Order: sequence, then C-alpha cells, then structure tokens
Amino acid sequence: MPTYAYRPVDPRKSCDHCRQGFETIQRMSEPPLTQCPKCENSVSRILFPPAVVIKGSPIGETDRKIKDYEREGKWSHAAELADKEAEKTKREDLRVRALEDYKKAGYNFDKYDKKDDA
Ligand SMILES: [Zn+2]
Repeated sequence: MPTYAYRPVDPRKSCDHCRQGFETIQRMSEPPLTQCPKCENSVSRILFPPAVVIKGSPIGETDRKIKDYEREGKWSHAAELADKEAEKTKREDLRVRALEDYKKAGYNFDKYDKKDDA
C-alpha cells in the first residue's frame, strides 16, 4: 500500500504529530485525510511520487546511449536500442531513428519491412 505524506494546513494549529508533517499508509481507494488523527486540525496531502514507479531507464538515459552508439558508428547497436525503446514507449521518433540506423548499418530494408518469409 502506498505511503502518503500530510502537512498541517496551518502550522500554528498543529500538534507534535503533524507539525513537521507525517506519513501514513493508506489504500489508494481510501479518501485522503483531512484532519490530523491526533489533534484534528486540518491537514493537506503532499503529493509526492513513491507510489509511482517508472519502469525501465529514463528516456534521456536511453537517448544518450543511442547517441553514443551512433557517434561510435555502431549503427546496429543504436538501431536495436532505438527499436526496443520505440516498442516500449511507442515513440515514433525513435522508430524512425531505428530505421535510419538500420539503414546505416547496411541492413536490407525491403527484407526488414516484410514480416513473412515467403
Ligand atoms: Zn496534529
């Protein structure tokens, strides 16, 4: 279950529990607290992201790697990475980039486009 952080709406109306902010574990479906459970003064939820985990490496990281490969002339490496990332993120710019890198790597484009082996 995610952890939520709260802080008092008015720091002058707070107790030892909530003055510096406090965290509580709640179900996602539970409504946010509006009061400190101890002093019952108003609190508001601080939105912060531990509940949301971004899978995979950040976009910038992958872009940088692709650029590195391109700079080193490792076109097939760059193409594969861009291709994979395009699959994952549905980014059209990466798909185009992958195709261009495949071309530079000397791949036969007609073959690459055709899915069947006929
Ligand atoms: Zn309190």
